Amino acid sequence: MKKSLKDKVIVITGASSGIGEAMARVYAAQGACVVLGARSAEKLAALVDEIRKAGGQAAWCAVDVVKPEECKALIDTAVEKFGRVDVLICNAGLSMRAIFDDVDLEVLHRLMDVNFWGTVNCCKYALPYLQQTKGSVVGISSVAGLHGLPGRTGYSASKYAMTGFLETLRIENLKKGLHVMVACPGFTASNVRFSALTADGSQQGATPRNEAKMMTPEQVARIVARGILKRKRLCLMEIEGRATHFVKKFAPAFLDRMFYLVMSREPDSPFK
Ligand code: NDP
Repeated sequence: MKKSLKDKVIVITGASSGIGEAMARVYAAQGACVVLGARSAEKLAALVDEIRKAGGQAAWCAVDVVKPEECKALIDTAVEKFGRVDVLICNAGLSMRAIFDDVDLEVLHRLMDVNFWGTVNCCKYALPYLQQTKGSVVGISSVAGLHGLPGRTGYSASKYAMTGFLETLRIENLKKGLHVMVACPGFTASNVRFSALTADGSQQGATPRNEAKMMTPEQVARIVARGILKRKRLCLMEIEGRATHFVKKFAPAFLDRMFYLVMSREPDSPFK
């Protein structure tokens, strides 16, 4: 097994914030050539500048992952600048907080567009290059992609959909050497709860949880890197993910009650 991502060409979506931003810094410091995508062009340009000043190699492309042609432009940027794609990390994502009784259907459509279709769009254009390099596709799912998370119907559904898509892609490419990994972070300190959509589609603007007690994006980035190097199928992180994966097999109804209990205790929880 290689020990680092040195010289790998790694495309990362959602690289302007949180986990994606941390992956960009951590992987560039390991010697990878990182190609960064997100909608916030200024943040990406500043991050690329910072990485280059530190001696790293990076490029960026403004992309709304909902738009297939922009996903193509992101992959084209990687190939033009660095000649190939070794790893695609589908990380761009959006969350929500509302129970299904109350939520506008538009919110669920938006979640599917960004989290699921954003992944599909990027994979579509990266796949031929990843097949050439026998590279890796990584989907940043969630513990909510392992078991339904109450108050997050659209989020859990979009992450399950990602998994179904990625697992099928793995099997279709079984004889082509493609590595496909689903990574499932638990709560990680980032902007995701601030930008999460509420029932009417407006941004939550605040976090209902203690961000200081969560994993850091840098920890997630390092665990995902190890998963890529070991060519894992499923990358679980801390106790939340491991316990969810294990208990679901033997006591799913117990897990339902635990998820209900934990999430109903959040301040302003939409269910009690
Ligand atoms: P952040 O909100 O900090 O980052 C989200 C990133 O996604 C931003 O860079 C944002 O950039 C980008 N993004 C959002 N919408 C689009 C879009 N339409 N097109 C392109 N980029 C987009 O959250 P995290 O870092 O926490 O989230 C990263 C991933 O990790 C997500 O998939 C999330 O579901 C997952 N995750 C997060 C957990 C957590 O607790 N933080 C737990 C489990 C999984 P911009 O606005 O510039 O477009």
